[in-house]
Amino acid sequence: MNRKLLLRLTLPLAIAVLFTVTGSDTARAKTYCERLYESARRDYYSLLESERKQRFHDSWERVINSFDGIVDKYPECSKAPDSLFNMGVLYQKLYHRSWLKSDLEKAQKAYERLTKSYPMSQLADDALFGAAQILEEMGRKKEAYKAYDKVRNSYPSGDMSGKAKKKLTELASYAPRPDPVKPVVSKPGKFKVSDVQHWSNPNYTRIVVYGSGQLNFEKHSLKRDSVTGKPPRIYIDIKGAVLPRGIDNSLAIRDGLLQQARIAQYDADTVRLVLDMESLKDSTARALLNPSRLVVDIYGEGQGEGQSALAGDPGSSGLISSGSEVLPLSQQLGLKVKRIVLDPGHGGRDPGAVGPKGLREKDVVLSLAKRVKTALEARGYEVLMTRDSDIYVKLEDRAIFANNSRADLFVSIHTNASKNRAVRGIETYFLGVARDRQSSETAMLENAVSNENTLSDLEQILHSLINQNNMWHSNELAEAVQDSMHGMVSGKYGTIRNLGVKQAPFYVLSKTGMPAVLVETSFISNSSAEKLLQRSDFRDTLSDSITRGIINYTEKVSRQEGDPS
Ligand SMILES: [Zn+2]
Repeated sequence: MNRKLLLRLTLPLAIAVLFTVTGSDTARAKTYCERLYESARRDYYSLLESERKQRFHDSWERVINSFDGIVDKYPECSKAPDSLFNMGVLYQKLYHRSWLKSDLEKAQKAYERLTKSYPMSQLADDALFGAAQILEEMGRKKEAYKAYDKVRNSYPSGDMSGKAKKKLTELASYAPRPDPVKPVVSKPGKFKVSDVQHWSNPNYTRIVVYGSGQLNFEKHSLKRDSVTGKPPRIYIDIKGAVLPRGIDNSLAIRDGLLQQARIAQYDADTVRLVLDMESLKDSTARALLNPSRLVVDIYGEGQGEGQSALAGDPGSSGLISSGSEVLPLSQQLGLKVKRIVLDPGHGGRDPGAVGPKGLREKDVVLSLAKRVKTALEARGYEVLMTRDSDIYVKLEDRAIFANNSRADLFVSIHTNASKNRAVRGIETYFLGVARDRQSSETAMLENAVSNENTLSDLEQILHSLINQNNMWHSNELAEAVQDSMHGMVSGKYGTIRNLGVKQAPFYVLSKTGMPAVLVETSFISNSSAEKLLQRSDFRDTLSDSITRGIINYTEKVSRQEGDPS
């Protein structure tokens, strides 16, 4: 969360707590458990005020455990419900950094425990509301509806009742239906729509219809109607398709290019996607597999350059039948990987991780990236850098730069850090949900740049992670770079742990529209690794190995050219 916002939110709370404490002071002496609670609250505020502390899972858990201890040991304490409520809030906040599903589940458990054990508490309705919000966030909208309904019915005069009513209106389509719903019979092979998503990029807007089953479609365009002034439209009929209930029928987009996307069951056998445009220069539609999906890219007037890259795309001339593979554009056009964007992490006011002797990540990674650039250019690649000096560049701008440059690959270079200074090793990431705590912490570290409120964006992306077109290629690129790095560095510089290829929700990777990886070259927090990172010969080996990995990947991709599978 944005720090300023956080302070704005917590300050009135802090004042409120202060008054409560003073009030109870005069009435009676504080019990021991109440004093424990006050101490836990102080730790809570100190956590919320420290961006650095918030980067570590441990710091959150320490505060949570203090509250948990109060509930466990003193269930009759007047502050037990408050402790549970704070646990719920803390786990929820932690989840928005760690993106570990288990944290969100723990938040929900804390809220549920509060409503079950302390139903008469003033916080019971807040907790029930919190649990409902989490269900909604998890996409379990029908259950969320029920929970909001319970807030309204069980606590009609509570302060959450009004908010619950609003939520119930929003989620009306998830209300339990009294009439028996006829099950949608989907014949085997029918395309069953599961989701519709959109992305606004600087040069184009992408709409993706996800589903399962065979995908056949017809695309039609309608020009601007000069008589009625109706804007241009594209409509795509997906044949042999079913749109189940519960899928949002319209997406308001309004990004200057597309007003909105609408989808409906047009007739028994056809689902129609209609795109209402602001302007239209060109569009492409492709059917892709794994997952089965229809990808529509729209290019507007005045976004001309974006379209030249697509001029040869067979999709722009009409239809591609289902069965085309998931391939980046460069490869679909029969091009080798040509343009690579290197992204040295951090810079300027953001030093990145700092080693025990003061070596700064931002300096190390810039020097590594410059070396990789020279080496790749010598091999005939075109290489661009998101920064080539010690300046601060926002994560979002790095991704936009790569997208605008129409790069074929994006490689972000970092050094990792751990509170445990013994941790060492090399690892390479591509975008995904973190599967272990260490991966999640690495992403927390790399995503944490103050004054960038990126959480809601990231959240949106995480919920549609499956949509990553370039997932497979990013994985291949990550494997190639990781293999090469570990192979060339280990042995020459002693045994260096191969931590492997991992996935985590990195903001910078989530915004790039090409195969993208984030390389954690070493743990700068380890003093031996820091010493090595200072050495020019080690930097040469590291950058040679990254270069080699990139080349291995591009050669593999080129070898696959012409192979339709
Ligand atoms: Zn970094």
